[in-house]
Amino acid sequence: MKRFDAVIVGARCAGAATALLLARAGARVLLVDKGSYDTDTLSTHALMRGGVLQLHRWGVLPAIAATDATPVRSTTFSYSDQDLTVAIEPRYGVEALYAPRRRLLDRVLVDAAVASGAAVEYGVRVEDLIRDDRGRVCGVLVAGGIQRIEAETVIGADGLHSLIAQRVRAETVVAGRYKAATLYTYWQGLQTDGYYWRFTTSGSMGAIPTNDHATCVFVAVSPERLKDEISRNPLTAYRKWLREAAPAIDAQLDSATRTEPVRGFGGHVGFIKTSTGPGWALVGDAAYFKDPLTAHGITDALRDAELLVRAIVKGTATALHDYEVTRLDLSRRLFEVSDEVASLSWTDDRVQSLHRTLSTEMSREVRALVALEPLTCHLPSVSALPEA
Ligand SMILES: Cc1cc2nc3c(=O)[nH]c(=O)nc-3n(C[C@H](O)[C@H](O)[C@H](O)COP(=O)(O)OP(=O)(O)OC[C@H]3O[C@@H](n4cnc5c(N)ncnc54)[C@H](O)[C@@H]3O)c2cc1C
Repeated sequence: MKRFDAVIVGARCAGAATALLLARAGARVLLVDKGSYDTDTLSTHALMRGGVLQLHRWGVLPAIAATDATPVRSTTFSYSDQDLTVAIEPRYGVEALYAPRRRLLDRVLVDAAVASGAAVEYGVRVEDLIRDDRGRVCGVLVAGGIQRIEAETVIGADGLHSLIAQRVRAETVVAGRYKAATLYTYWQGLQTDGYYWRFTTSGSMGAIPTNDHATCVFVAVSPERLKDEISRNPLTAYRKWLREAAPAIDAQLDSATRTEPVRGFGGHVGFIKTSTGPGWALVGDAAYFKDPLTAHGITDALRDAELLVRAIVKGTATALHDYEVTRLDLSRRLFEVSDEVASLSWTDDRVQSLHRTLSTEMSREVRALVALEPLTCHLPSVSALPEA
């Protein structure tokens, strides 16, 4: 039997960031993942300013830049009638945005967590929770229930289909209505300048410069269309939908080199769930999933990792309550915009209006993060989430 202040289930952006911050606050942290170190996952991995700001604040941005991820210095929103390009102004220590491949982003965060004192174990599948005689969560069972890991706090950072969220019956507080499907792959030799998002009534797509001088190019369609039209050859469907959404970009692909197979996501309706309770917490997609068309999941996971750790460090019911209120306040409008964008049934004017709201909300999120004092305090003793 092992005992920790916190066991975190899921060692990707949400879990590794939470482990890093809790370990720096002085907690004994175990981070486990059923998968492997240094692996990729389904994502087009574009970071927004809030996400890059967090990496900068935690001192890990130089390690991201050192992966040779292409610095992104502008964002272009392309519509039927116009292209709007916005420069990324150097501000708050963020000189450029990045879209590092997930194997690199997640590895940098895990390495930083280990350097901060967290223990990390891969190949560990959590199968259930342990509760004390009052029903409070006090650990996890792994490997067919043979191994018990006890902890004051169990944090589920186990993604969209979170086992921890299911076991604690986390309540859905906001539910989405729509979902979009995504197909994407990577191209070398494509002329890109910054993030490029195209939203027209003929289709939606994006081009995201990343590592290895490659660009991730995705196209979004309705899940029904994905099901009806996807053939044995996903590349054919991908190119057809890209041709409809952005003929000029599709034409460029003829002379570019595709470096990986086409990957697909069938879509999932978004949710915001309660993220704390007696002895447990949720972070990242486990607690808050929104359609990836607004490319904001990682940024919000990095935001909430810090807000959650601050609340745990304070260790009071008020701090946890305030955390839930702040998280919901910063998330709700962004969630609603993402949901409506995912419907893929807006007009040109409406989608431009949604993007203006998105931009306002992202600025608000950044201001909220900038206002936080550096997180330097040490846990007085064992950090326990108080009774809800
Ligand atoms: C197609 C697509 C494109 C996207 N594009 C973007 C984008 O451009 N920008 C952006 O910001 N976001 C994007 N997102 C969203 C982003 O990828 C997620 O928000 C992010 O991955 C959430 O991170 P996480 O750490 O919460 O969960 P995950 O990355 O899902 O990690 C969860 C981890 O938990 C582990 N785990 C699960 N169950 C167990 C268990 N029982 N025991 C042990 N370990 C377990 C898994 O192995 C996994 O490693 C996209 C998502 C999709 C699907």
